[in-house]
Amino acid sequence: MGKLILLGVLAIVVWWLWRKLQAPERTAAQPPASRPVESMVSCARCGLNQPRSECVESAGRFYCCEQHRRDAESGDGGEGR
Ligand SMILES: [Zn+2]
Repeated sequence: MGKLILLGVLAIVVWWLWRKLQAPERTAAQPPASRPVESMVSCARCGLNQPRSECVESAGRFYCCEQHRRDAESGDGGEGR
């Protein structure tokens, strides 16, 4: 009976090692491509540079904050057109 148990343990160890060898290959294959470099845009009101995701976009223009977007859209002090 001892032989059978030993065979089972050996099979588990081999399977575990095989899985361990498989895993890093998969993760190493696709790490850098998932994160594109974020483009910087400047506020149409004050010119502040910011990552695009942090900007407020309106009518194809980017603003650093909601306040500047409102200022520009209301034409308060901004060059309307
Ligand atoms: Zn601004």
